[in-house]
Amino acid sequence: MDRRNFLRTSAIGAVMAVASPISISAAGHATRKTTRSGRLNMSFMPYELKLNHSFNLARSQRTTTPDVQLQIEYDGLIGYGEASMPPYLGESVESVMTFLNSLDMTQFADPFRIDEIHDYMDSVAPENRAAKAAVDIALHDLTGKIMGQPWYKIWGLKPSKTPDTSFTVSYDSNPDEQKAKIEEALPFNIIKVKMGLDHDKELVDAIRRQSQSPVCVDANQGWTDKEKALEMCHWLNERGCLFVEQPMPKEMLEETAWLRERSPLPIIADEFVRDTADVRRAVQAYDGINIKLMKCGGMHEAHRMAVFARALGMKVMLGCMTETSCAVTAAAQLSPMADWADLDGNLLISNDRFDGMKIVDGKVTIPDRPGIGVKLITPTV
Ligand code: MG
Repeated sequence: MDRRNFLRTSAIGAVMAVASPISISAAGHATRKTTRSGRLNMSFMPYELKLNHSFNLARSQRTTTPDVQLQIEYDGLIGYGEASMPPYLGESVESVMTFLNSLDMTQFADPFRIDEIHDYMDSVAPENRAAKAAVDIALHDLTGKIMGQPWYKIWGLKPSKTPDTSFTVSYDSNPDEQKAKIEEALPFNIIKVKMGLDHDKELVDAIRRQSQSPVCVDANQGWTDKEKALEMCHWLNERGCLFVEQPMPKEMLEETAWLRERSPLPIIADEFVRDTADVRRAVQAYDGINIKLMKCGGMHEAHRMAVFARALGMKVMLGCMTETSCAVTAAAQLSPMADWADLDGNLLISNDRFDGMKIVDGKVTIPDRPGIGVKLITPTV
């Protein structure tokens, strides 16, 4: 290992962790101008995502999401990446910074060695999937830029096949707030509903008073009684629901298989399935899988999961966390392989740093730019 380069990379990480936004930007700019070393130079900084509305899930409520922004420089080009850490996945700014600081990326002189770099990251520490996703996304951005092509093209996907994306609405006990949340979702062709609370039917009824668009339901493991879950599936089916995501706790595989046998709606796995190995087990109890870059460790694994799920005849859904347009646009590159997309994470925050994927007439639209397709818009925030 090149000790001097290791210290340099670590120092950049440390500086970005504590420096003011302006000096972060200045540091990034200075490095960009001077680095033409043919080595991978990685830097990163914490970035708290501010949510437009508080997020009310079955098991928690929050107004911010911890996030780490990352970049890898190579031969004058910059690849952008991001780790978003919703609390239920177990990663934090501290764990991501610690993991990234432990990597020596300067040992790699070629950003195309993505598979090998994943093996290296797994050898440094298991899990840390959001942190690994940040590195993976930045490598894809970089390699796409070197090839001068966006990733959907490199994967041979047809951009016009991108699906509609849903927009998430959560329950609010204040009727005016609830109405405002539903109004925000009206331009979208599908409305996603977070369920698992005591007001599930109330929320769907409130949506139906304002919109006839199909809804999809995410119970976030909130239904623990299989008979009641089946009753809800029938009730939702009568109200124009497309599918139910993770109705029961991920541990209740047998009960979920029982539900799938009887449900009029497709049952999609989210928390149950994280990577390709989980897809094989999911086929016993679920009709499809929800792929998210932060769960699986990035675009490399996400693509593998989509191919495998398709081979098993399963539906593919593409989701995200609350993220900037960086990770959302990276996921959008894969969206022509998805039946449904839930790529609204960038629309739920007020401090996006990137311009990227757009929703046009409710449909995912991939930008015509190489790499993951994003442009940094507010480097000093
Ligand atoms: Mg979900």
